[in-house]
Amino acid sequence: MPEENRINLCDLTSPALEEFVTGLGMKRFRAGQIWQWIWVRNASGFDAMTDLSQKDRAALAEKAYIRWPSVADVRVSSDGTTKFLLELADGELVETVLIPSDAPMRPSDLTVRMTQCVSTQVGCPMACSFCSTGKLGFRRNMTVGEILGQVQVARAYMNDTRPEHPIIRNLVYMGMGEPLLNLGTVIDSLNTLEHPKGLAFSPRRITVSTCGIEKGMREFGDSGLAYLAVSLHAPNQELREQLMPRAAKWHLDDLVSALEQYPLKTRERITLEYLVIAGINDRPEHVKQLARICARLKAKLNLIPCNPIPGTPYDAPTPDELLRFEKALWAKGITAIVRKSKGQDIEAACGQLRAAHEAALAAGVGACGTDAGEEA
Ligand code: SAH
Repeated sequence: MPEENRINLCDLTSPALEEFVTGLGMKRFRAGQIWQWIWVRNASGFDAMTDLSQKDRAALAEKAYIRWPSVADVRVSSDGTTKFLLELADGELVETVLIPSDAPMRPSDLTVRMTQCVSTQVGCPMACSFCSTGKLGFRRNMTVGEILGQVQVARAYMNDTRPEHPIIRNLVYMGMGEPLLNLGTVIDSLNTLEHPKGLAFSPRRITVSTCGIEKGMREFGDSGLAYLAVSLHAPNQELREQLMPRAAKWHLDDLVSALEQYPLKTRERITLEYLVIAGINDRPEHVKQLARICARLKAKLNLIPCNPIPGTPYDAPTPDELLRFEKALWAKGITAIVRKSKGQDIEAACGQLRAAHEAALAAGVGACGTDAGEEA
């Protein structure tokens, strides 16, 4: 049967898979076996599922399939950051990045831990002026199988190519797209990620980043499925309207009020992300405004030096300027930490690789795979 009349089992939540399997006349516990084939053993078809009868496998193949994204390009930065450009079933391209953790837990511990940044939409409707994905516009929402396919594909690639078998320890929903605009699917993907018989991620190792969408923020908070990060980027409404015109439709005062009410567990804090753009949002008055916002919240502030996108007037601050800004925030009692940009040599900022790939295609040059692993 053609694929369009069947369903991708990677898109189903655990209860939905049970329903599907019992609907085919199979025993309920078979769903658990299939779940493990998909999420633990990374199966890409039913033939491998040798603990199922031939008949059951044929019944599954009749109505369903398993499909992961395919790797269109891999780039490895000199700092170990690895960026994948993935192709989805309809030919759309999305990005996911693996970032090595800075330091081992103990000097004797040689395990390499990585944080993976995943995309939730192809493109993004928010059109933030500094963001490469924003320039693409919105194409479509990603499915559960596509969102988590990023994890499965990266995990398999790491196992096959890296002798040290790095562990994907943390996940951040900070790639292409606005997660709260694809909330139902994002919540399904978190439930699947955290399923104890599957990938078994703890909610304490997952952060979902949003530019602040009124509808959905509270529902996400009540789910308790991951930490929240909010892309603030501007400490007053006027500047936010300039940098993030669509996100700023929810007034900054209302966003901050909603964050005051946001349900937090003990010791949990909201992460505020602040792209530092030279001369635009790093002036002394911005320090004061940020201090007023932070005083109202249980939050920590992550400072991210802007990665300039071609065609935008935004520049990164110099290291001195950044340090001055950071110190001025500390002087106001704000917990601000500079997050070093990684993978700059591989265009690792949000949406940049897809943009480079498309520019190369437009110019008739294949961008794919040419420097994969070159610097590893
Ligand atoms: N839509 C969500 C998720 C996208 S990730 C959100 O807005 O949070 C957004 C993050 O990508 C930003 O917080 C910032 O950390 C990063 N980012 C986007 N454009 C960037 C740029 N030009 N340079 C550096 N980081 C950028």
